[in-house]
Amino acid sequence: MDTIFSKILRKEIPAKIVYEDDVCLAFHDVSPQAPVHVLLIPKKPIVNLTAATKDDERILGHLMVKAAEVAALCGAKEFRLVSNSGETVGQSVFHLHFHILAGRKLGWPPG
Ligand code: AMP
Repeated sequence: MDTIFSKILRKEIPAKIVYEDDVCLAFHDVSPQAPVHVLLIPKKPIVNLTAATKDDERILGHLMVKAAEVAALCGAKEFRLVSNSGETVGQSVFHLHFHILAGRKLGWPPG
């Protein structure tokens, strides 16, 4: 699996990186839908939450803890975390990612 996010992870294409450690990378979405719109991805190339397995529990837990930290780095105490898992629900890049959205009032339910 090679996606645009694999290229960002390999630093082959630029991204505005917010946070990086040995498990994950967070960078600004190229097409922001809110004043804060950051993508949080695992370095392991998991396709989406549907494809994640028990072996990925530590990575998924790490991402959940880091989501609030990354939001705080962007100045957001309140945020929405979204992960589209599959084409019909809006996934367009097939490397697991969490959208961290903040900075404006967000409607519910989503479209
Ligand atoms: P999804 O549609 O849930 O798969 O989300 C994919 C997201 O990746 C979209 O919000 C895109 O705007 C974003 N995206 C695509 N290419 C890039 C890129 N090169 N740098 C940053 N964000 C990107």
